[in-house]
Amino acid sequence: MVEEKIICIGCPLGCETNLKIDDQGEVIKITGYKCKEGRQYVLEEYRSPVRVLTATVLTQSSARPLFPVRSNRPLLKTQLKEAAKALAGVKVKPPIRVGQTILSNLMNTGVDVIATDDLTY
Ligand code: SF4
Repeated sequence: MVEEKIICIGCPLGCETNLKIDDQGEVIKITGYKCKEGRQYVLEEYRSPVRVLTATVLTQSSARPLFPVRSNRPLLKTQLKEAAKALAGVKVKPPIRVGQTILSNLMNTGVDVIATDDLTY
């Protein structure tokens, strides 16, 4: 059996939880959480952690060569490196409005990459 600590980020309390994990990798006990949402969060964080991808892409604007984007939904942490590589080949052309889709269905995940700012020129 092994133990793993995960800090819940579900609210500002930031509870430090402790997971006891058996030899098959199954969670057999969780302590330290203060609500059922926190328990669910740490279980998901252990089993399949996800993150919103934030990045920059190239532009055709000499005034602003890099432009900020993010995924509209979280991706598995294991997909982030490949997703960043996929964005390396993207070059956007102004005008772009905040929230506009820059890349649809990133790596066939169903997740879109969207603009997080305006690019006017
Ligand atoms: S376990 Fe509940 S109370 Fe604690 S940080 Fe997570 S959401 Fe907040």
